[in-house]
Amino acid sequence: MKCRKCGRPAVVNMRQHKLALCGACFSDWFVEQTRKNIERYEMFDPGDRVLVAVSGGKDSLALWDVLLKLGYEVEGVYIDLGIEGGGYSARSRCRVEAFAESRGVPIAIVDLKAAYGKSVPDMARERRGRTYCSLCGLVKRHEMNRVAYEGGFAALATGHNLDDETATLLQNTLRWEMGYLARQAPVLPSIHPRFARKVKPLCRMTERETASYAIVRNIDYIYDECPHATRATSIFHKELLNRLETRSRGAKLSFYLNFLRARESFKVPEVSLDICKRCGQPTAAPEICAFCRLWEGSEG
Ligand code: AMP
Ligand code: ZN
Repeated sequence: MKCRKCGRPAVVNMRQHKLALCGACFSDWFVEQTRKNIERYEMFDPGDRVLVAVSGGKDSLALWDVLLKLGYEVEGVYIDLGIEGGGYSARSRCRVEAFAESRGVPIAIVDLKAAYGKSVPDMARERRGRTYCSLCGLVKRHEMNRVAYEGGFAALATGHNLDDETATLLQNTLRWEMGYLARQAPVLPSIHPRFARKVKPLCRMTERETASYAIVRNIDYIYDECPHATRATSIFHKELLNRLETRSRGAKLSFYLNFLRARESFKVPEVSLDICKRCGQPTAAPEICAFCRLWEGSEG
């Protein structure tokens, strides 16, 4: 098969776009698609400072690479949660640090245990009535938001891709979680001056496309999924959607885009926010936010 743009041998064939490209043309295409997506959803402007949350996986490192290529002023943040399972956090952190060094770009590392005295596994062992994944999500959200606010960034970008977004969408639709559905979008505007604006520039790119981009660009990323089993549900939903995609090309993208269209008529529930007395972040909980309560032992 030949590259549609230059006629050299193609290395990536995207059936849903009826497009086969060589490595160099694919990389240009991927960057251009991301640029268009940033503009389409008005994620941020050329002069804005953007914080990209990097996990060491293909999506977030690919995103960082693309944003640098597009000339944005972008810094990275990595949250070291201390996940053991074959040194998962330590190995991811190495990838992130190596990427930052190779590009000569700044990275903020938040080492949970060094900063707060406990890692996510330490907290999970204390069984505070939260699952491992919910603890991890809570910690990541709080710390990403803190770093974005303290650094005065215009937006916080994550590497969520189309497969992530449609798997979440399927899960939320199966349960008709209207609150979650209303808050699932390529851009979540800030609802409080201390809350970062959240953006997902890769939300229309498939996992296969982001992996191909990382490979074509020689990005060394961590292949493993987080070793915690509860993520199996989202993996199962991804498999279901892949089966659907095989039967009906473009099904994932149209599921997502039709949802975004329908979502325009949803009413986003208003939440009243207090300021946490410990850390100063806005919270829907009274007085002390869920993150600060973790360290007090008063939760669960
Ligand atoms: P996940 O929730 O693990 O699927 O990750 C979704 C996105 O969150 C990734 O693409 C990253 O942008 C970000 N992310 C996940 N884990 C971390 C981490 N440990 N540190 C910083 N950002 C992260
Ligand atoms: Zn707090």
